[in-house]
Amino acid sequence: MMQHIATQGPSASPIFGNGERANRLKSTKFGGRLVNDYWDNLFSAREQGKMVVWYNGTYIPPFFHAHDLAWVHGEAWSAYLAAKHGEIPAQKAGEQWGYDRELCSYARTHIGQALIDLQKLNDGTLGIAPDDPRAETMRKLPAPDMIINAYPYCSSGQQWDDITYRLFGKKVPMFTISIPLLWGGRTDAGYLRGDEWNERSRYVADQLMAMTRFIEEHSGRKYDFDRLSEVMSYVKRAAELRLEAMDLCTTTPSPASFFDWIVSIAPVNFLPGDQNLVTYFEGVKAEIQQRIASGEGAVKDEKYRLFFDGMMNWNKVGWLADKFAAVNACVVAGRYTHMSFWQEPQLIDLKDPVLGMAQNYLICPNNHGAPIMIGEIEKICEKFNVNGMVMHASRTCRGMTNSQFLIADSAKRNGRQALFFEGDVADESFYKDELLNTRLEAMIESMDAQRRAA
Ligand code: SF4
Repeated sequence: MMQHIATQGPSASPIFGNGERANRLKSTKFGGRLVNDYWDNLFSAREQGKMVVWYNGTYIPPFFHAHDLAWVHGEAWSAYLAAKHGEIPAQKAGEQWGYDRELCSYARTHIGQALIDLQKLNDGTLGIAPDDPRAETMRKLPAPDMIINAYPYCSSGQQWDDITYRLFGKKVPMFTISIPLLWGGRTDAGYLRGDEWNERSRYVADQLMAMTRFIEEHSGRKYDFDRLSEVMSYVKRAAELRLEAMDLCTTTPSPASFFDWIVSIAPVNFLPGDQNLVTYFEGVKAEIQQRIASGEGAVKDEKYRLFFDGMMNWNKVGWLADKFAAVNACVVAGRYTHMSFWQEPQLIDLKDPVLGMAQNYLICPNNHGAPIMIGEIEKICEKFNVNGMVMHASRTCRGMTNSQFLIADSAKRNGRQALFFEGDVADESFYKDELLNTRLEAMIESMDAQRRAA
């Protein structure tokens, strides 16, 4: 039995296993600076004379960037607050307004803090001092001039934006893009192929074109498609570098882990498409190459290679990275990191990028019927030589949890261990550390037994 000691308070590192910490990539620090710059820039959008779009869902900011709009990704705002452990007052405020705790905690945080609290702050009834640092953060988020929703698979996103629309008195223009599920039921269906794929690619691309007309109408300026191509040239190059760097992590020991890719999500998800994005992933790739040359792993004495399924628990990124490192387990890949975010950049034709952008939005892993999605997960597990799967059952994100029992069954059929643990995207109260400790310990023992028997 490995040493198993109770954990300390929520902000301490977990004392578990051998006490080793994750060996994180240093190059990702540049991403932290870019994220801070992005928020600072956003907070001054009004002074810069920019219109502000609030959007939810997939990575459509290049459309805003190309038109010189400022953008707020609802999920990113909630994750930002959660990563800074500033989400709890927002969630309490949301509950007081009647939003159920089972509602998506991204939505609950965004609505609760960035809207309700902002309104209360403005009319002096927030209930916290105006000079409280939390009030300062809330006050900074500029209100929307437009709302755009582009959510594959999950309907919570549309309802979240509908609530936002109502909170602003039904006056902010709203545009909703339907990104339909790829059922995969036709005989010619498969990953990136078949009639359904072609029809739905065109269907989403047509809506994106309609969105540019909506943006034109509400900004009073003509949409610049040359600029969109230019922005996408950076996004496409960054996506290629990211995938090349990820592929290098098939090496043993893996030079980077799922948690390094988690902290690299902001650049491909919502940061501006410019040279900084390319520089960021060039830096990540170079560090990974250098680690391979020197035999340095993301986890000391890597013994087990795991796949992480489920949405990230943003309160716990460092905590979880250390927890797995402490049992010599490297989480080498994940559904959230390795199957989303400009995953097929070769589909993007820079002369006419909209269709390829639509196709990348469609292949969000949740947006495939389960057999195709699970087939793709298994390919990744084979490629990265995965021994076990960790299923983060995020309590309020059903979008990611719906297929998890099928994914775990498939893992077991393919000789991989699987464990479930509870948590949530932006609500720390659902995470149970002791549960994960016990199950991780049991999984490690099973993997050892499996090896001894082989
Ligand atoms: S439930 Fe999950 S997929 Fe749906 S809006 Fe919330 S975080 Fe996104």
